[in-house]
Amino acid sequence: MPPRKLSTPRNRPAGRPSGKSGKSGKSSTETIVKRITAALIEHRLPPGAKLGEVALGEIFGVSRTTIRQALNRLAQDKLITLMPARGAFVTTPEPREARELFDARRVIERVVIERFTASATRAQLAELRDHLVQERAAIAAGDAAVRNRLLGEFHVLIAEMAGNAVIAELLRELVQRSTLVTLLYQSTRAASCSSDEHDALLDAVRRRDAIAAVRLMEQHLTHVERDLALPGDKSPALDLRAALTLARV
Ligand SMILES: [Zn+2]
Repeated sequence: MPPRKLSTPRNRPAGRPSGKSGKSGKSSTETIVKRITAALIEHRLPPGAKLGEVALGEIFGVSRTTIRQALNRLAQDKLITLMPARGAFVTTPEPREARELFDARRVIERVVIERFTASATRAQLAELRDHLVQERAAIAAGDAAVRNRLLGEFHVLIAEMAGNAVIAELLRELVQRSTLVTLLYQSTRAASCSSDEHDALLDAVRRRDAIAAVRLMEQHLTHVERDLALPGDKSPALDLRAALTLARV
């Protein structure tokens, strides 16, 4: 018998189905969440697609209870929407909502960056530089979920550092809503450009050049918005099994 680590269940590879009832539930839920998230990010599951419990149960070979747990987790992150009596659907941010979100962000963030350029300390700039290193690492690793979160957090961090808690709170909500849009519609190339623009923005702050910082922030938000591959009016028919089978974990 080959040596096996039995001491802790955390050693069990996440993607391997145990084939037994009982303790496999948690691991299966995580695997399903990862597979569906990957399919969303890689645009194999389009916004509005229905995620039927029975179909998913067959695809993953697990019970509907496990599927429901996975769907609830995805719904908490707003990646899918659970509709009473209708089931689970991939969340569809409306193009109009996306435009309004970025418009609101431009209004708020030009004030934020102007104030931050006046007040930024060395320690704050160093923290933001470290944040940029993490962004780059996530982009290089091809980790779309992490890079997306970090790209959004950069803006929230600046708002918190700029010192107005009410504005920071407002922006946190706007960023949270727009990161859902970017998660679904932003390409790796656009994410990479986005991080380069963060770098240029920090340079302007470092030089205490408020005019340049405001201009770069406005341009940056406009670029992020413009580069989104927002959905057209008609989606092609979806093969749920193919979309999920191809998903990398
Ligand atoms: Zn950004």
